[in-house]
Amino acid sequence: VKVTKFGGSSLASAEQILKMKQIVEADEARKFVVPSAPGKRFKDDVKVTDLLYSLHDAAAHFEETDGIYGQIVRRYTDIRDELGLSIKIEEYLEKMYRDIKTGANEDYAASRGEYLNGLLIADLLGYDFIDAADVIFFDETGSYDAKKTLSVLPGALKLHERAVIPGFYGSLPNGRIKTFSRGGSDITGSIVSRAANADLYENWTDVSGFMMADPRIVENPRKIDVVTYRELRELAYMGATVLHEDSIFPVLEAAIPINVKNTNDPENSGTMIIPAIEGRDGARDGITGIAGKKNFTVITIEKDGMNTEIGFGRKVLTCLEKFGLSFEHMPSSIDTISIVVADIRIRHCIEELIDEIHAVCQPDSVEVSSNMAIIATVGRGMIRQVGVSAKLFAALAQSHVNVRMIDQGSSEINIIVGVENDDFEKAVQAIYSALV
Ligand code: ADP
Ligand code: MG
Repeated sequence: VKVTKFGGSSLASAEQILKMKQIVEADEARKFVVPSAPGKRFKDDVKVTDLLYSLHDAAAHFEETDGIYGQIVRRYTDIRDELGLSIKIEEYLEKMYRDIKTGANEDYAASRGEYLNGLLIADLLGYDFIDAADVIFFDETGSYDAKKTLSVLPGALKLHERAVIPGFYGSLPNGRIKTFSRGGSDITGSIVSRAANADLYENWTDVSGFMMADPRIVENPRKIDVVTYRELRELAYMGATVLHEDSIFPVLEAAIPINVKNTNDPENSGTMIIPAIEGRDGARDGITGIAGKKNFTVITIEKDGMNTEIGFGRKVLTCLEKFGLSFEHMPSSIDTISIVVADIRIRHCIEELIDEIHAVCQPDSVEVSSNMAIIATVGRGMIRQVGVSAKLFAALAQSHVNVRMIDQGSSEINIIVGVENDDFEKAVQAIYSALV
């Protein structure tokens, strides 16, 4: 059995959806299909999910909603009509509109993108439709409930020879809809793969797999043919958003491989994501990939002898906790600790936080830099190779990139550097040219 998840750009229009159909029908084993909501059809187009968030927001503020609603209706009726289907999608749209106007929660609104697309796709393929709200569950705290889901979903799948299960959402114990974070249809695909005990989880998107760097930053980056779950998670979390970083968890135990494939180039073998690279551990030459993201604040706390001060780290963490902050990274050396937090999460409380650190930790100095980008260079083979980091820093210096933070050695599979937002693209390009 293969589970196939299709991303938003793969299902953005009737034309793309027909490519999906061809792919699904080319292999008998593709029994379960997990669709995303229709994405962008062209560069400045708007994703249906974003329209739905706007619609909910406008309704919540009693603003004009008919315009946005009309755009959403058109996206689905265009697809339906161009595919020549007779399903009365208007009825489902109208119910959604009524619900949103009478106070349905934001997650419900957002989830309709996948739900409605799933109805159309099931109709087109002649597959059964399974509402994810009936088979994927979250607990009271809003976390994915694997135990409950795996007690229901496998049985539900057995009742269907072939089925479409929309991505991105499930339901809470009180029956309300809850979504995963953005890009979460990747997680649904992984959950369905686990429940179906699939041989393979295919994740179809608009690139031929994971590249060694973001193709929007580096021209024609080399493809990664095989990558481990851990490397994938590291790259995804650090900004290579081809696959949601949490997608590996549901399939981890069952060790189901994930194959990222291109809907527009189905012959391409794409990238295989597997538990571990047997027999060739560390044998990969050089690095696996580079990923990064912008808009972080780095707080550097300096205090001579902090390494021998019992409880210093705890004091720093207590300060963060007081403001409800978790950190992205926390590199440290003998006399300094740096804390990396997303700009948007720290902006409102940065001054109070610095005051708190001064009061509680008694540091020699505290330095704050915002608008920073963090870049991870990832690879399991890296540690055994001499000179990778020397080459990386030489390349950054040569491109006149000012390195403001370094985190090396805390994890054996990556080197993280902090640079100014404006230097981000230049830095990624420099690292790529030096190490690939
Ligand atoms: P989908 O809608 O199919 O889920 P996404 O937009 O979530 O697709 O992910 C695919 C996109 O990820 C690509 O179009 C590409 O722009 C971006 N991307 C970022 N980093 C990488 C990378 N290292 N390799 C490939 N694509 C990447
Ligand atoms: Mg995605």
